[in-house]
Amino acid sequence: MIKKQYRLLEDYLNSLFPNAGCELIHDKDYEFVIEVMLSAQSTDVAVNLVSNKLFKKYSTLESLANADLFDVEKILHPLGLFKNKAKNVIGIAKTLIEEFDGIIPSDKDLLQRLPGVGNKTAGVIRAEVFHIPDLPVDTHILRISRRLGISKAGDTPLQVEQKLKKEIDQSRWILTHHQLIHFGRYFCTARKPNCENCKLNSFCKIRTIH
Ligand code: SF4
Repeated sequence: MIKKQYRLLEDYLNSLFPNAGCELIHDKDYEFVIEVMLSAQSTDVAVNLVSNKLFKKYSTLESLANADLFDVEKILHPLGLFKNKAKNVIGIAKTLIEEFDGIIPSDKDLLQRLPGVGNKTAGVIRAEVFHIPDLPVDTHILRISRRLGISKAGDTPLQVEQKLKKEIDQSRWILTHHQLIHFGRYFCTARKPNCENCKLNSFCKIRTIH
C-alpha cells in the first residue's frame, strides 16, 4: 500500500469510527489485564459476560489468586480454551501479587511474565492502562492488512505491527488500533465484507487473494 492510500485509510476510519475505543468493560486495571488474556479467540461480548460473573464472585486480586481452579473453569466455560484461561487467571493474580506487589507493570517484557500475556496482549494493556502508544495486531487487523495489501500471506502479527507503525504517526497508533478492530468487526468482516460500499475498494486486493 502506498503512502497516499494510508492517508485514505486513516481518513476513512476517522469518518466511520471517530471515537473507536476498547469494548472490554472493567473497573480495575488487573481486571482489564485478565480480560485481554481471556479475549484470545473469543469475542469481547462473551468476555464481558463471563468476567462480570468472575469478578463478582472473586472481587479482589487475592481471592482470584486463591480461587478454586475447577470453579474458575466452570465460569469460563463459554469461552474457547477455557481450561488454559482458567489457569492463566489464577496465574496472573498470583504473579501480580508475588512479583509485582499487586501493581501492573508498564514494561512490555515484565508484562509478558504474566501467564497468557504475549506481545499483542502486553501492547493492548500498555495502551489502555498507561496510554503508551502501541499498535498491536489482532486477527481483524491481520485480515484487513492482508486484504489491503499492507502485508503478505504468512506475515506474522509482529511483522504487520512493524509495517503499520512505520507508516502511521505514533500519535495515532492507539486510535488506529481500535479503528481497525471496529472496521474488521462491523464493516470488513471475515465472512461478509461490505465491499460494495467500501471507499477502499479501488485498491483493495480482496479479489486477488481468494
Ligand atoms: S473493499 Fe471489501 S475487503 Fe477491501 S477493505 Fe473494503 S470491505 Fe474490506
